[in-house]
Amino acid sequence: MAFVIENGYLQRAYDVLQRAGFSSCSLGESCHDSTGNRPRFYPAPTKHLHISEDSSIRLFEKSEVLWNIPNLATAPSDATPKPDVILASDSKRLPGPDQLGRGGRFPSNLHASRIPSAWRMVEACILLLRRDRKTYGSYWMSNLCYMAEYVTSKDVLDENDLEASCKELFTALKTGSKSPYAFL
Ligand SMILES: [Zn+2]
Repeated sequence: MAFVIENGYLQRAYDVLQRAGFSSCSLGESCHDSTGNRPRFYPAPTKHLHISEDSSIRLFEKSEVLWNIPNLATAPSDATPKPDVILASDSKRLPGPDQLGRGGRFPSNLHASRIPSAWRMVEACILLLRRDRKTYGSYWMSNLCYMAEYVTSKDVLDENDLEASCKELFTALKTGSKSPYAFL
């Protein structure tokens, strides 16, 4: 589970979660979320807490992963036609369990969780793929493949919303017309 925190509020978020009962890490370098010198397949969080030894809450600062969303904390989740942020329970903008499997979108009776809209998520994965091509490129590419495979409805993602170079890469990935790496 990962949360993206507005710049400057990471320590405050960590403190709130710790006071709520989640544990600080006591595993040192052996922790899968350690920032130490071990091979990794995804970026280490700046801070993390534990639910159990194997399960963690990862905290990233916005400028590390979602710098393409200027108004992460304040964007309305019901903006139209191109929201930056949506609710994880949004039945109009997220596929259901029939398409996503598992639980699909969040049930609407849970506490509202704000997530990047589909076009912002694709854009972020491409920016991160460009930045991390030599380190975590396969991780961001697998996220993009997931979006290309499962997010097929125009109601959920209209590729015309993507910035031009992102649209070219995503279209190449979906159609197989060209290597998406040609657009990095
Ligand atoms: Zn840990």
